[in-house]
Amino acid sequence: MRTTSEITPFVNEPFTDFSDEENAQAFQQALQKVEGEFPRVVRLWVDGEDREGGAGTFESRDPGQPDRIVANSAKGSREDAIQAIAGAHKAFGEWSRKTAEERAEFLFRAARTLRLRKHEFSAQMVYEVGKSWAEADGDTAEAIDFLEFYAREALRYGRKQPVVPYPGEEPEFHYVPLGVGAVIPPWNFPLAILVGMTSAALVTGNTVVLKPASDSPGIAGMFVDLMKEVGLPGGVLQFVPGGGTEVGATLVEHPLTRFVNFTGSAAVGAEIYEKAARLQPGQIWLKRVVAEMGGKDFVFVDEDADVAAAAQAVHASAFGFQGQKCSACSRLILHEAIADAFMEQFLPLVEATTIGHPSDPNVFLGPMINEAALNKALEGIVAAKNEGNELLAGGEVVDRPGFYLQPTVFGGVGRGDTIWKEELFAPVLGVHRVGSFEEGIEAANDTVYGLTGAYFGRNEEKIAIAKRELFAGNLYINRKCTGALVGVHPFGGFNMSGTDSKAGGRDYLLLFLQGKSISRKVGRS
Ligand code: NAD
Repeated sequence: MRTTSEITPFVNEPFTDFSDEENAQAFQQALQKVEGEFPRVVRLWVDGEDREGGAGTFESRDPGQPDRIVANSAKGSREDAIQAIAGAHKAFGEWSRKTAEERAEFLFRAARTLRLRKHEFSAQMVYEVGKSWAEADGDTAEAIDFLEFYAREALRYGRKQPVVPYPGEEPEFHYVPLGVGAVIPPWNFPLAILVGMTSAALVTGNTVVLKPASDSPGIAGMFVDLMKEVGLPGGVLQFVPGGGTEVGATLVEHPLTRFVNFTGSAAVGAEIYEKAARLQPGQIWLKRVVAEMGGKDFVFVDEDADVAAAAQAVHASAFGFQGQKCSACSRLILHEAIADAFMEQFLPLVEATTIGHPSDPNVFLGPMINEAALNKALEGIVAAKNEGNELLAGGEVVDRPGFYLQPTVFGGVGRGDTIWKEELFAPVLGVHRVGSFEEGIEAANDTVYGLTGAYFGRNEEKIAIAKRELFAGNLYINRKCTGALVGVHPFGGFNMSGTDSKAGGRDYLLLFLQGKSISRKVGRS
């Protein structure tokens, strides 16, 4: 085990430069390797044993070529979930007594191994969820960052904490873990978010029952295998793939569950928040719920903005990973004075978007995750047309197998319209024009969400006002509203975007800890 002095300061994992032929070849080889192994077999991991699931099996398929079965996963039942919680509860005793250094070492080791095999993990995401090379590489880099960052953070929280001295007493303050956590991640950052949510809970001394999203069990299974490889003790991490309403809900409601760490849609998050609040027979605590949810994120391009830079940034924010990021821009607010000039630069970028299977390195836009997601997007498009929004680009399903939707732009979108208000989680952008800076700020804040946003402008006074008045957990000035980096941009949203956990920030681990204050009387009593 390394000593604290051997630990270097945290730095973000660099992205792979695919213009380097050697890197491109290595990635091609990884794609071939993982595809040759399909379907990846995924099993439950409960009390240190690989197991079948009580509810049979399910498959994940390549959304860009749905006849390709990517993973075959055991499907956990309610009983499996209950057993996993009981096992995690048992494992908590020993795990919670380990030192922060001992626990952090598992994360450091996992980061090292993941770095060595990063292309394999990324390649799996190209096929399982339809990420382009760059998007998949970014996802894996973020997973490595979370492991490295939270390991260091755990050491910080494990150190002696400052208290005010008091005569005649020796006061101390320690952070201690909570207990068993249910970790329920989404499919859209199927490695990074899953790894971050799980490793933060583990490194602080909690045990975890992890239920991955149903569209991405393969990559989740690869992470669990990685944790086995680095020697994580059985029972500390319990892995139960299965249905949200069956396994997920059971984990949320169980009286031995001490906290829930959820990332996903606002509807499911709100339901979990409510269910977790209800005391179950035998439960002796109030469950803590961390719920990171959806967004209806904006870019506001003001009259003095660098229009060319803004057009590039909006294209990346709205259509990167098919708009399926919680941080994706789905509301574009344009100052009248530059609106036409902006569109002249922006629409050609949209038209030039390369669409195809993401295993092709030249592809920018791949498939949507599944048929239901595509249908929801199409319903949004129909609603936009019915409400009189003007179709400026795209709007059609792409004629090839898979769930491909053209990058779509609607103009004339009003603040009461469907695509202004509802998170479609799709490559669909609504454009709204404003006559002033003040109107733009008001429009940007006109949402129940508050996750990300970006302001483009040059005037320092207006930038200062924008920084103060725009209500978003992650606000960017003169850059895209996606692509938060661990440690640099702690991530989490306001209002219906969630509990503002600020993943990748210094406050995050506190969510899985409680403070214990101890004071001993010294001298004569
Ligand atoms: P989702 O809400 O459908 O599912 C998320 C997870 O919850 C999955 O593992 C699912 O199986 C599980 N689940 C579903 N129903 C459940 C229930 N009743 N009880 C317990 N668990 C249940 O979301 P998704 O489609 O996987 O992900 C997309 C959503 O996630 C979008 O809304 C996106 O904005 C949001 N998201 C937010 C963040 C963030 O940091 N704020 C990050 C990524 C994604």
